[in-house]
Amino acid sequence: MEDLIGTLTTFGLYLETYLTSLSADFLNHKKRIFVGYLAISVVMALVFLCAWRGLGLRGAFGKVFDKNIFWSRSAKADYFIYAINRIISILISPYLIAQGAVTTLLFFQLSKQNVIGFLSLDHWPSVLIITLYTLTYFFMDDLSKYFVHRCMHRWQFLWAFHKVHHSAETMTPITVYRVHPVESIIYGLRGSIVIGAVIGIFAYCFGIDNFSLATLLGVNLFSFIFNIAGANLRHSHIEIAYWPWLEKIFISPAQHQLHHSIENKHFNKNYGAMLAIWDWLFGSLHFSETGKSIRFGLRPNEASATNIISIYLKPFVEISNIFKYFYTTLVKLLKLNILR
Ligand SMILES: [Zn+2]
Ligand SMILES: [Zn+2]
Repeated sequence: MEDLIGTLTTFGLYLETYLTSLSADFLNHKKRIFVGYLAISVVMALVFLCAWRGLGLRGAFGKVFDKNIFWSRSAKADYFIYAINRIISILISPYLIAQGAVTTLLFFQLSKQNVIGFLSLDHWPSVLIITLYTLTYFFMDDLSKYFVHRCMHRWQFLWAFHKVHHSAETMTPITVYRVHPVESIIYGLRGSIVIGAVIGIFAYCFGIDNFSLATLLGVNLFSFIFNIAGANLRHSHIEIAYWPWLEKIFISPAQHQLHHSIENKHFNKNYGAMLAIWDWLFGSLHFSETGKSIRFGLRPNEASATNIISIYLKPFVEISNIFKYFYTTLVKLLKLNILR
């Protein structure tokens, strides 16, 4: 009996943690889907539709809250994946590499080089250090996201996981969470390594207590600007574009929507998270094409998973097929004495 009570209590605690975490992102102003940012995005969408597209307020409301989009099969799958991913993240988060571990490792490795006297810059004005740290953090974070995203598209075994995000056929702000857990782990590791390294280097150069991020209302300054500038509209059917010169610097919502396009000419374009500069520099920039309706989803030759279980398991099957293919090719080559 006591065992049963103990099990039920543990289950109750897990359930409480889970239910709290489900709603937490909507109430946390550090998260993109915070209700405040969602409300700002709705206002931006309404202003855009009324002022630029000439719709009346009623028509604009109808377009923003189109029930054919928010209750489509694809959107329902998004909500379901969001709920399941929360359970998975509660279960695996204690095992993920901590950013602090990378920071400490790098800091001590640098300290051992015995050039700390040469690089000790802790006498610099704190405004300069904070500005430098905030900019370095932002650029390194964004650049590393660009490269990981690019690899997700270029490397077949990573594409097997990233395909889950691209299988959305209608987009709502929750689509940002339509990701395979393996993709979340890869991005988490990226963050730990890159941000850990930046913190480690700054701690080494300026002293552990001498730098911090510039924030606004407790949120990283750049994330705050990104979120109040309508980041939620990237995963939506409201195609807000910027001027071409600005689309070379920042990814507009329409540019990210184009990244989800089914058309061949849009494929492998606009990998950028916040900045478009990386796409511009590395040849993957595509300006938005307003006025044309874009179909979202996977191309017809990409077999898309059709139910929740296969969405989670299919990438592993695909990867085992890739390895099987390499293995059989290698065996064939060895038999032909080509590799001897
Ligand atoms: Zn992508
Ligand atoms: Zn996306």
